[in-house]
Amino acid sequence: MSVDAVETMISVPYVDLGADPSSELARELLASVQEILTSGQFILGAAVDEFERQFAEVCGVKHAIGVGNGTEAIILTLRGLGIGAGDEVITAANSFLASASAIVMAGATPVFADVRDDLNLDPAAVEAVITERTKAILPVHLTGRPAEMGALLEIAERHGLRVIEDAAQAVGAASNGLPVGSFGAAGCFSLHPLKNLAAAGDGGVITTNDDRLADWLRQARNHGLRDRNTCDFWSVNSRLDALQAAMLTVKLRCLDKWTVARRANAAYYRERLADVVTVPIEKPEEYSVYHTFVIQAERRDELQRFLAERRIGSAVHYPIPIHLQPAAMDLGYRLGSLPVTERLAGQILSLPVHPKLNEEQLAHVVRAIRDFYGA
Ligand SMILES: *Cc1c(COP(=O)(O)O)cnc(C)c1O
Repeated sequence: MSVDAVETMISVPYVDLGADPSSELARELLASVQEILTSGQFILGAAVDEFERQFAEVCGVKHAIGVGNGTEAIILTLRGLGIGAGDEVITAANSFLASASAIVMAGATPVFADVRDDLNLDPAAVEAVITERTKAILPVHLTGRPAEMGALLEIAERHGLRVIEDAAQAVGAASNGLPVGSFGAAGCFSLHPLKNLAAAGDGGVITTNDDRLADWLRQARNHGLRDRNTCDFWSVNSRLDALQAAMLTVKLRCLDKWTVARRANAAYYRERLADVVTVPIEKPEEYSVYHTFVIQAERRDELQRFLAERRIGSAVHYPIPIHLQPAAMDLGYRLGSLPVTERLAGQILSLPVHPKLNEEQLAHVVRAIRDFYGA
């Protein structure tokens, strides 16, 4: 077969979530499931405790609290910090919509600040929208790149605000050697199947160094129960399943390896694409984990179709900024409110960057993009 014929057969799925049944990982996952099935301990218990202990260690914090999903992690954290009706929380509009919907579901009002070309909150824009009702800043470590925590924490300190990190995309990322999830009053993580550390279903986890908040959250995820029969406050049922926790503990051992593979894929793209599209860079103090590898491209939609013709998956995270969602109508934003966010929405494209990609696939993506731009 000619080189061209081989080339035309390569396909590059955007994600590849299934486990190879013959792999060592699949065997270990099944063994962990078997253990839970045999024990009959399905709700909370030792498997959840162990996952929480190890997750806290990874994030360099005292406490990790497993919850139902990443969205509820944010809702519960806001409630736990006493943030609700009449309060404003500043966040980014170029995130998954849960960053904002969680604020609304906690009873508070999301206020959007614009981002910079690095896709993360612009600290100056954050400071500009602070009012006497602002209670917290909720930076998103979008794409797995740490937000500018130094500046945001300084602003929060000066204005007496809490900082809650939406670290759903950023497990393992660090800034100045400190893990995300350890900067703010709390860090909120998602364990959704698409995230870098993924459950076989929904899951979430909250990190904090605050003993009182941790105690409150453990109670709040379990109906507000202090013990089996005493309820101190009304709350929801939002627990991380023991089955998920057991599998996640197995997967946690692979997280570093997967992150290194994502970072190598990102470096491969960066070296070979920087002259034709805008690629994400890394500052010396940043350690990004590339949940997504987001380029900024001219003729983005055309490029995406061109890639699809060459069997290369890609995605747009996210095509409609949150402030322009139908659900956000009553918040009073319009086209033009957040110029950088809105411009980026038309230029961003997420390339496949998952750890299972091989060099042939990466080269296929690079060749396709260079061909598209005639480079
Ligand atoms: C995935 C995600 C969430 C929500 O997590 P779920 O577990 O799906 O509820 C919140 N914020 C961001 C930035 C996300 O990527």
